[in-house]
Amino acid sequence: MKNKELLLVPGPTPVMDEIYDALASETRGHTDPRFVETFKNALANTKKLFNTDGEVYVVAGSGTLAMEMAIVNTIAKGERLLVISHGYFGDRFTLLAKAFGIEVDVLQSTWGERVDSKLVEEAVKANNYKAVTITHADTSTGVMSDLETLVPIIKASGALVIVDGVVATAALQEDMSKAYGEDDYKIDIVLTGSQKAIGIPPGLAIVAFSQQALAAREQIGTVPAYYADIHNWRAIMDNPAMYFATPPVNLIYAYDVALNIVLEEGMEKREARHIAFGKAIRAALRSYGMTPLANEEVAAPTLSCILYPEGIDDAKFRASLAKSGVIVAGSLAHLAGKAFRIGHMGNTTAEMLEQAIVVIGEALQEQQLQVDIEKAKKVFFQQLEAATVQS
Ligand SMILES: *Cc1c(COP(=O)(O)O)cnc(C)c1O
Repeated sequence: MKNKELLLVPGPTPVMDEIYDALASETRGHTDPRFVETFKNALANTKKLFNTDGEVYVVAGSGTLAMEMAIVNTIAKGERLLVISHGYFGDRFTLLAKAFGIEVDVLQSTWGERVDSKLVEEAVKANNYKAVTITHADTSTGVMSDLETLVPIIKASGALVIVDGVVATAALQEDMSKAYGEDDYKIDIVLTGSQKAIGIPPGLAIVAFSQQALAAREQIGTVPAYYADIHNWRAIMDNPAMYFATPPVNLIYAYDVALNIVLEEGMEKREARHIAFGKAIRAALRSYGMTPLANEEVAAPTLSCILYPEGIDDAKFRASLAKSGVIVAGSLAHLAGKAFRIGHMGNTTAEMLEQAIVVIGEALQEQQLQVDIEKAKKVFFQQLEAATVQS
């Protein structure tokens, strides 16, 4: 591995050697037929990833640009948006929509819990929303949304379903042809970034639009954006030999390789692996007396927010991990100093997580907490096996 450290923050995630090699390929002109072939292949594979007959957009930018593209191309100024927020990244949709003069209502959960779907049902029945956003997994809390329940409720009201897949895409299935509920409702938009479960460095915004979402773009006429206006990108996504704004050539090489890795593993297997990783690492950390913020029933398979036991100093803990080459993230807002966040997604391996468990145990021991590292490792592998056998 070229990585000298284990990057277990909730994105960016560990980059595989094959992907680094692709990044280091000779840079070609963006209209060079050889590059155009690669871009075409990556776009075709993006459609496969989401199983969509709509359109996909892959442009230079971060996940936030992908959020903006989803919002600005479907909801006009003065129209209404409902945000289902399970934390910091749900709230980002509210700020974003306000910047464009969109009327926003928010259903916000207590951090670590889910918004009650009954409240969603009441809200969509009582109001005329153009769209509803669902953060598939919220990176601040480690809470996963329940698409099975939410999609039919929202679609029955006529609103579009926009799914933020930034820490979910390529780990959890987001099949845009899948029929939800008895009336065969489908997801309209999935958006993501490159640096989380896809496993390449930051820099790509990726958005998939269903036919219905594309129709919404047509219906609103002009949009208050230029770079984020999908109209300006459509011709390029149909034929990457065309030019609108220079694509990040080397990132596209890397993305193409990363998608091959994802599709080769297969989304069903990949999702099962992530579910197993999530359960197993949380079980191991619980054996240290640590408590995940989210209950197992709502916990995300891709990352966890872990509360410290009494008396553990956050800065010292994370510095100690970093000294051993394991990088985790602090927590946001009112949880800062009280919890840390660990990513277990993308091309992260069981061996990496095992090493993290050891180093976390050592950091706790340094702060005078008695923990059994061998037992935690055993719990991790037992849970991993149990989850794998189940699936
Ligand atoms: C990281 C993240 C974002 C923002 O992505 P950036 O690449 O930082 O702009 C949005 N939503 C979720 C759920 C995320 O995890």
